[in-house]
Amino acid sequence: MPSLRTPEMKQQHKEYQQSAAPSGACPLCEKPALRTFAHWKITGNKFPYDLIAKTHHMLIPIRHVTETGLNEAELKEYQQLKAAVVHPEYDYIIEATTKNKSVPAHFHLHLIVGKE
Ligand SMILES: [Zn+2]
Repeated sequence: MPSLRTPEMKQQHKEYQQSAAPSGACPLCEKPALRTFAHWKITGNKFPYDLIAKTHHMLIPIRHVTETGLNEAELKEYQQLKAAVVHPEYDYIIEATTKNKSVPAHFHLHLIVGKE
């Protein structure tokens, strides 16, 4: 499977996924926020897309929800954050498709500042 991670980072991510306790806890719900908004948070990423990214953050709804479960208030704030925060501060928004999503139950987008 193609990856945006270096082989070393890919291996670390794989080991993390295999070691994660099967407690049912959602890693994205538990992820500490760098910035918090009304319905969304921006977090870091311990396993960045290091082939392409100088900075790799994630935009995550605070509520544990899939994309299709986002409510009107969440969607509205997403549009506002895109304009006010994401476009000025990042270069790319990346969403993994279903076959590459590691946490499909909790919607999240990858915010990337590209390497020079
Ligand atoms: Zn969650």
